[in-house]
Amino acid sequence: MPVYQHRGQQMSVPDQDLEYTGYFDAAKEGRLVVKKCQGCGLLRGEPGPACPWCPSQNWEWQDVSGKGVIYSYQIVAHTVIPGFKDWAPFAIVLVELDEQSGKPERGDGLRITTNLVDDNMDAEKEENVAIGKRVEVVFQKSEEDFVLPQFKLSGEVPQGPVWRHVV
Ligand SMILES: [Zn+2]
Repeated sequence: MPVYQHRGQQMSVPDQDLEYTGYFDAAKEGRLVVKKCQGCGLLRGEPGPACPWCPSQNWEWQDVSGKGVIYSYQIVAHTVIPGFKDWAPFAIVLVELDEQSGKPERGDGLRITTNLVDDNMDAEKEENVAIGKRVEVVFQKSEEDFVLPQFKLSGEVPQGPVWRHVV
């Protein structure tokens, strides 16, 4: 099982961990993948062996565009994780990908939790983070042949209102 370093911390993806190996294998090829339920056909972005909408535990990897919108976010003002202390305050964003907005029900969508980075792969400035802004996936390569999908602001024109939390 290879062990990687990310911001001074060790990360490992066990070879037998099918929840993650396919995700990182695809990232090495510059592809973002999510799980597609083989029961109902819906996509899901968060880890877990079972479909949240039907009883099926059968799934396969599905390529997605990596384009979406900031659905929500939270600012981390203080972190106990050493590798991220120099980032604080920074945003954790919930990205809604374009592929499945409003499905299976209004208010649902294909969402993933991610860092928001700038062109240098540093944390995007807090004042630039806002709900409704368009984002796209970028692939952060480490020196050890490990690739981590991240998101950055795409600069595309927002499709709806853009707003920030009032602090
Ligand atoms: Zn399903």
